[in-house]
Amino acid sequence: MQAYTDSADVVHFIGGNTGRGAGDRTQAVFNPATGAPARRLVLGEAADVDAAVASAKAAFPAWRDTPPIRRARVLLRFLELMNHHKDELAAIITAEHGKVFADAQGEVARGIDVIEFACGIPQLLKGDYTEQVSTGMDNWTVRQPLGVVAGITPFNFPAMVPCWMFPVALAAGCTFVLKPSERDPSASLFMARLLKEAGLPDGVFNVVQGDKVVVDALLAHRDVKAVSFVGSTPIANYIYETGAKHGKRVQALGGAKNHMVVMPDADLDQAVDALIGAGYGSAGERCMAISVAVLVGDVADKIVPRLAERARALKVKNGMEADAEMGPVVTRQALERIEGYIAAGAEEGATLVVDGRGLKVPGFEDGFFTGGTLFDHVTPDMRIYQEEIFGPVLACVRVKDFSEAVQLINDHEFGNGVACFTRDGNVAREFGRQIEVGMVGINVPIPVPMAWHGFGGWKRSLFGDMHAYGEEGVRFYTKQKSIMQRWPESTEKGAEFTMPVAK
Ligand code: NAD
Repeated sequence: MQAYTDSADVVHFIGGNTGRGAGDRTQAVFNPATGAPARRLVLGEAADVDAAVASAKAAFPAWRDTPPIRRARVLLRFLELMNHHKDELAAIITAEHGKVFADAQGEVARGIDVIEFACGIPQLLKGDYTEQVSTGMDNWTVRQPLGVVAGITPFNFPAMVPCWMFPVALAAGCTFVLKPSERDPSASLFMARLLKEAGLPDGVFNVVQGDKVVVDALLAHRDVKAVSFVGSTPIANYIYETGAKHGKRVQALGGAKNHMVVMPDADLDQAVDALIGAGYGSAGERCMAISVAVLVGDVADKIVPRLAERARALKVKNGMEADAEMGPVVTRQALERIEGYIAAGAEEGATLVVDGRGLKVPGFEDGFFTGGTLFDHVTPDMRIYQEEIFGPVLACVRVKDFSEAVQLINDHEFGNGVACFTRDGNVAREFGRQIEVGMVGINVPIPVPMAWHGFGGWKRSLFGDMHAYGEEGVRFYTKQKSIMQRWPESTEKGAEFTMPVAK
């Protein structure tokens, strides 16, 4: 396999070939640990989208007609290759995203789970059949692939989030155009080459690198039948509205502000570990990161000092160092945004218990590092409570009881993930029932559903009707057709002028 590092430039993958495409715009891709540009990304133009969609459209009839079990076998070979190259892919992710290598390995593993799920597509595409809906007549339903579909993905999971989309779409018989994040685009090209090596026909999977120009061309293209998007809420909203206006099926997953409730009866050691891992893991740049600790009753007085001690002791390093617990954030702009929120929180009157700003990592002084930050006495009127910071900043909110905790969470505009730590079965049950959030963890801080369950938030964390991957993913990439059939031998004679009913 050609290594992704062959060229300093990250290019497109269209019709089975890599290439620079139509335009001459480029942009630097940084290594966040050093703060230095590592390679250049070629930015696509509308003509590149036209070429990729044309290639996917041409490949669609043969791929659609390939029996599902044979499509699954291509994915099985891809699965083997992904497993074989998983550490190379994880290193590519760390080099461009900054997350620690072990976390990047975890991301690749969760992406691989979805490929494994997609290999079961023959079972998932089985239709329903009813014999004898009327005398001599049968009725059945099948699900057929939509055609060319597109995926637009965020920086924070450059391998896993594309894997939420394309393995399911390809298994279902669609052909695919991926527009990866411009911050860490190399993982997409690496996977494209593995798909080719696995025997995927040219044109079935394409990558167009770029920015809003590419996104807008995909949204307006008449041959793109559906768009899967994952990213921030304002862009998700825009994708949903624009895609729908152009008659496309859209699932657009947005931002988050995930709360973790700690009840007084919880195992507080476990709760502290969970808050530290879920708040500061991947430098808080996870859509399922915990950014708000909701501390019930006297819990805050017991655990805030312990959280502070642990936040100060975080090992913030270049992500390739074996003992690193947290790497840099993705860009200098992200660093400035996060540190700006910390200043705003202090100004708004929250107690800044641990201030991570201005951290310098020896040997990586120009890297995009910030330390773990901890706020206490945060209130719902503060911007640091309302808005997604997407960095290693944990806000503690104190509430008097369970009802107040539930109300607080249900009033928030986002509803992606949530957790409740308790030993009380009834509290756990009521939390699961009452909470208005799409993914719930009971003593599980980051409840990312497994590949066969599907992923999706509520409220302004998801625009559209269907969750990513799992059976909802299969439904998203297929449309249902109902077929009724009878044979001349069973047909009653004569024209019917009334609404047909079962006879
Ligand atoms: P982003 O919204 O900035 O970018 C996502 C994608 O949209 C990228 O491919 C980008 O090129 C494109 N894009 C950006 N601006 C655009 C514009 N004006 N018009 C058209 N396209 C545009 O998000 P990000 O910073 O890459 O990722 C972080 C965000 O993603 C966070 O808000 C996080 O919560 C969210 N996220 C959500 C989930 C989820 O499942 N709900 C998962 C991962 C990340």
